[in-house]
Amino acid sequence: MLTVNAYAATSATEPLAPTTIERRDLGPDDVLIDIRFSGICHSDIHTARSEWGPARYPIVVGHEIAGVVREVGSAVTKFAVGDRVGVGCLVDSCRECDNCRKGLEQYCRNGSTGTYGGVGRDGEPTQGGYSQAIVVTEDFVLRIPDGIELDAAAPLLCAGITTYSPLRHWNAGPGRRVAVIGMGGLGHMAVKLAHAMGAEVTVLSQSLKKREDGLRLGADHYYATSDEDTFTTLAGSFDLIINTVSATLDMDAYLRLLAVDGTLVNVGAPEKPLSVHAFSLIPARRSFAGSNIGGIAETQEMLDFCAEHGLGAEIEVIPAEKINEAYERVLASDVRYRFVIDASTF
Ligand code: NAP
Ligand code: ZN
Ligand code: ZN
Repeated sequence: MLTVNAYAATSATEPLAPTTIERRDLGPDDVLIDIRFSGICHSDIHTARSEWGPARYPIVVGHEIAGVVREVGSAVTKFAVGDRVGVGCLVDSCRECDNCRKGLEQYCRNGSTGTYGGVGRDGEPTQGGYSQAIVVTEDFVLRIPDGIELDAAAPLLCAGITTYSPLRHWNAGPGRRVAVIGMGGLGHMAVKLAHAMGAEVTVLSQSLKKREDGLRLGADHYYATSDEDTFTTLAGSFDLIINTVSATLDMDAYLRLLAVDGTLVNVGAPEKPLSVHAFSLIPARRSFAGSNIGGIAETQEMLDFCAEHGLGAEIEVIPAEKINEAYERVLASDVRYRFVIDASTF
């Protein structure tokens, strides 16, 4: 077993604090990864604070992992020492159900294993990326293409794939009008990706404070949702809306912005339920959908797409001691646009 430094949440209300955790011995198909950078996803905060149900403390969160292979098990074929690699939200799944066989491990019928908060092959609770190293079975390790720096790549492993997957599934591309609600970690990646796919992109943010950035990242239009006129001006005008907001919104107001046959995909995962009035859907054959991260093959496809289009996340690199401060800034929508922890400071 390998003992590594980490930062853990010990209760829903205490700040995260330094600790050590054990990583399992390398099995034949395992890869030991030296973590270089670890992104801070809003899901880490929801989990650390037990907002989605009680967490099992102490818990080390973090599922946007970028690093370098330190050691490989005897049967590993896809990776070698020194390779640049990533790990996202999943570290295992049953691999046998129909969904796993289709590359939809995130919808595994037998429950995929989360990078944190799950139960690992050793029967121990899985612990995530706010740590110096991690052991992961090779089928759940991604290759980070040379063209993307490791720090800017880390957030792609969750924020990137979570927005890429619905954009692809609902055919974002030329001639399609895509709106993104919320310009945080997921939202800014949705803007970059939808633009790279050729869609016409609109940001719907609470204010115009981040307008310049939004346009620079690829948005064609930028509106403040605090302005009531936004909802009349844009009524019936989008084919696809990606909602990345971590809080409960008035979904009916946003559904009315969809054109006939338009779809609003919820990726934001607020603590409280979202309600929808039937008459926000019926008059224009609209759909209200959800989407969960992406499968392993699709995550690799997304990384390759980002390398081809020169995309990475907009990041602010912080030392581990600033994690709690960063959490407060994320909660205040003051993130530009993803905090990434320098793993050498754990
Ligand atoms: P984030 O960086 O905090 O971004 C969320 C953005 O939503 C904020 O920057 C803000 O953008 C907007 N917002 C926040 N509070 C709001 C409010 N009360 N009203 C209106 N807008 C508000 O969070 P993130 O890391 O992108 O994650 C977003 C959500 O997605 C979280 O709930 C997370 O758990 C979830 N998530 C889901 C999946 C999945 O697979 N479905 C994967 C990862 C994350 P503006 O300032 O531009 O308004
Ligand atoms: Zn995440
Ligand atoms: Zn399965």
